[in-house]
Amino acid sequence: MEQELIELEDIKETKRKRKEMKSEKSEEPETKKEQSIYDLPGVGAATAEKLMAVGYTDLMSIAVASPGELIEATGMGDAVAKKLIAIARSNLEMGFESGEELLKRREKVIRIKTGSKALNTLLGGGFETGAIVECFGEFGSGKTQIGHALAVTVQTVEKDAVAVYIDTENTFRPDRIIQLAKGAGLDPDQVLKNIKVARAYNSDHQMLLAEKVEDLIKKQGLNVKLVVVDSLTAHFRAEFIGRGTLAERQQKLNRHLHVLAKLADRYNFCVYVTNQVMAKPDMFFGDPTQAIGGHIVAHASTFRVYLRKGKKGTRVAKLIDSPNQPEGEAGFYVDESGIKDVE
Ligand code: ADP
Ligand code: MG
Repeated sequence: MEQELIELEDIKETKRKRKEMKSEKSEEPETKKEQSIYDLPGVGAATAEKLMAVGYTDLMSIAVASPGELIEATGMGDAVAKKLIAIARSNLEMGFESGEELLKRREKVIRIKTGSKALNTLLGGGFETGAIVECFGEFGSGKTQIGHALAVTVQTVEKDAVAVYIDTENTFRPDRIIQLAKGAGLDPDQVLKNIKVARAYNSDHQMLLAEKVEDLIKKQGLNVKLVVVDSLTAHFRAEFIGRGTLAERQQKLNRHLHVLAKLADRYNFCVYVTNQVMAKPDMFFGDPTQAIGGHIVAHASTFRVYLRKGKKGTRVAKLIDSPNQPEGEAGFYVDESGIKDVE
């Protein structure tokens, strides 16, 4: 019943979005080259709505889908699905860039620092814009504290820098922000003003909020430099538990991450996501925990950091995956004023 309601909401939202897409097209040169799924021959309104309802909102998402996924989403035939994927692929600009252009883009990367030099160094100088940084770890390992700390320190990287906080577990605390702002020598009122918080009530809502970040930038003109999704996986995990629909969950999570990655790249902001671990009781050696979301989340994250509790109240961050940093560990601790180095 509840699921049905959500689906109805989805369709309404899709219709609204479709109108928006069409009306935006003419005035928006930037989005013009990005074709919508309506440009695919043979995709009628009904099919398009089914596709969009499960997150296939642009050509890229179709181009990288498997026929099986499209069939599951729409009930279309195998031949049609294959044809759609082929057309989406051939219509996409494959986007080769020269190494020189890429270097220029890399020069725009900003690194958001925490108060721990060791943690910053582990990530090559800080939490990078244009990237998704994932921290996973058990309850109390410091994931949310890092999110709060970044929402404050990001405001020092550029004038009017704004943090967006998508809160799924109701753990955002403005009073904690005030402490951290004072700790960083910033005006707490100003800092709070420049954090836009939204509580996500379910995974669909969470996905929608991520898309809405673009409105904050384009319509409200905010200089968003950080988007926190805390927690990335909790709703997905809770909603899809025991439903035998792991594939559907993974597809939705994939779409969500795809949207976040695309916006992070387009608007040069950092996406910080937190992720829980699940116990693996059958594992006796090593660390018996594993991040939720499997290879989908692992693959989408530019940096993955495993957090655990260390000695004497400290925390240990371990870099798991990084494009250009050596794997390593950093110790830090959390106190009233922020994230600090272990002396
Ligand atoms: P997670 O999100 O990984 O579950 P949190 O980021 O909420 O974990 O971490 C909670 C921990 O952070 C607390 O157990 C405490 O050690 C530390 N912490 C939170 N607030 C403060 C504070 N004001 N001063 C010192 N430590 C704090
Ligand atoms: Mg938390």
